[in-house]
Amino acid sequence: MTIGILGGGQLGYMLALAGYPLGLHFRFLDPSPEAPVGRIAQRVTAEFTDEQALDKFAHGLELVTYEFENVPVQAARFLAERVPVYPSAAALEEAQDRRREKRLFQHLGIPTTEFAEIAKREEFDAAMKQVGLPAVLKTCRMGYDGKGQTLLRTYEDVEKAWAEFPEVPLILEKFVPFTREVSILGVRSRSGETAFYPLVENHHRGGILRLSLAPAPHLCPGLQQNAEEAARKVLEGLDYAGVLCIEFFEVDGKLLANEMAPRVHNSGHWSIEGAVTSQFENHLRAVLGMPLGSTAIIGHSAMVNLIGELPDAAQVLEVANTHLHLYGKTPRPGRKLGHITVRAEQLEKLQQRLNELPEFFHRPEFCLQEVLPETLAKRA
Ligand code: AMP
Repeated sequence: MTIGILGGGQLGYMLALAGYPLGLHFRFLDPSPEAPVGRIAQRVTAEFTDEQALDKFAHGLELVTYEFENVPVQAARFLAERVPVYPSAAALEEAQDRRREKRLFQHLGIPTTEFAEIAKREEFDAAMKQVGLPAVLKTCRMGYDGKGQTLLRTYEDVEKAWAEFPEVPLILEKFVPFTREVSILGVRSRSGETAFYPLVENHHRGGILRLSLAPAPHLCPGLQQNAEEAARKVLEGLDYAGVLCIEFFEVDGKLLANEMAPRVHNSGHWSIEGAVTSQFENHLRAVLGMPLGSTAIIGHSAMVNLIGELPDAAQVLEVANTHLHLYGKTPRPGRKLGHITVRAEQLEKLQQRLNELPEFFHRPEFCLQEVLPETLAKRA
């Protein structure tokens, strides 16, 4: 049985690794001849808009799924005429555009950040009046890892953004003075069965995820349930199949939905070693309509992204219960090259192991200071 995957990055790579024990084969489509999955699976190098290539790609596949959400919706629709596509093209469309995503949250009664839409430049002043400063200006489409967004603190920032931002639909969001960022991964099978992973605490630098702690320590009562309810509404509202991630801001003990991703997510990488069933295996089970695996955690996990440069592998592996994942990419500044997961029975032990990581990880951008006992105690 061969599964087709649109996108050939590290998420696809880890999906394939989770699928091989289930006897699955994989075929990837990615415009880049350097896409990491080329090391381990069939890879078709073609643009997502190349219908001839899509047609050939679809031949003999059981189904198609994605590891990248900025695939043109038209490609998903074209493929859906030939093979089943999960999540559906309609779900993909909702998650590709911040306006649609926010409207969906509002429609489903999921609290979200206050925002104004800017379809044309003339609407900018009205949006500024409505939202005020500080605010975050974001392009509606193609934004990820902090790309396509800027923080506006002063009117000078506004003028600069006005001059520099492309003439595309935008949203202006109120800046949220959040206590922390958390995310939930939900999974829904084609059969309608659902499961949820525990809320994870995320630390970003420059809009890029650096560190996740699973489960999120010292969680206020009720927040897990609120997050699951929000994820369930989206999963059921979109008749979704697969893994979905919703990212939230935690503010005043409440959750505000920021955005969602219709795919496996970087804040779920810990689940490879830290949960009974990883997000990757559960995504495959879900799109195949197979029973979902347990999402129960195995102790406490921390996932640290390796961005732009790599540490010495042996030094990392010297720390007990630490696992290294390298995606086989050529190092470049800002590029996600791999991640490590550190696991322990208790949070205290996990913090101790994080402290034992090599010097490489003790620079501010790795955010380790933000999850060590003193910092967490101050915050609690
Ligand atoms: P996003 O692409 O929307 O996930 O934004 C990337 C990161 O920018 C988030 O993870 C936050 O750290 C920050 N950010 C985005 N929107 C806001 C906001 N409205 N208020 C405060 N921080 C934000």
